[in-house]
Amino acid sequence: MVLDLFKSRRRARLRAHAAPKAWRAILEHNLPVFGRLTKEDQNELLGHVQVFVAEKHFEGAGGLGITDEIKVTVAGQACLLLLHRETDYYPELTSIIVYPTGYIADEERHIGGGIWQEGGEHRLGHTGERLGALVLAWDAVRHGAAAPTDGENLVLHEFAHQLDFENQRSDGTPALETRGDYLAWARVMSAEFEALRDATDSGVPTLLDSYGATDPAEFFAVITEAFFEHPKALKEKHSDLYDELKK
Ligand SMILES: [Zn+2]
Repeated sequence: MVLDLFKSRRRARLRAHAAPKAWRAILEHNLPVFGRLTKEDQNELLGHVQVFVAEKHFEGAGGLGITDEIKVTVAGQACLLLLHRETDYYPELTSIIVYPTGYIADEERHIGGGIWQEGGEHRLGHTGERLGALVLAWDAVRHGAAAPTDGENLVLHEFAHQLDFENQRSDGTPALETRGDYLAWARVMSAEFEALRDATDSGVPTLLDSYGATDPAEFFAVITEAFFEHPKALKEKHSDLYDELKK
């Protein structure tokens, strides 16, 4: 990944700058997972949060005013996905639109078993390829952050979609380094995706949310949530999948 020099210098300066004390306090208070990171990881995360908040445009909707708490709580979770890797900070994403609570979107959606439901969908979040924006419900953002082991996390889910877009296609594959990496990834992911589809079709309970059986893109978002929310169980039940995500 080639980053332009100005951008990478500006980012290095932002990361080197000490984060406002209040921001650390927000992460400590709203993100229990923050307290479980090592000192180094906490500092890396705070550095990423500063770049993220400086570069992304936040916009309140439905009467919500954007505060530092909202920015830092969203950024803190989104940047968990950037730790320990070279990153271009979700280059496809410009704006984050935040509603106070779930909102109604006019679109059809898959409700399982090949059945599609149309119109008036209640949504907590959304993002799309070439959309440049990501929409979140603030109450669900807060709830997801506060419950780090319930298997669900809205921010991780939507930003996993953004990672998926980095290699220009929404196909459940984030940007990887080598051809070998892509081959290994594809081998493990197709087997696991098929297994989840079969289990979901035959009603067998699964550790992974059956919503992941929708398509490879949702599968990637769902396994990203599981990696952060149920790492031990994922390692036990899906060790190849766990290893790929860890890489
Ligand atoms: Zn999704």
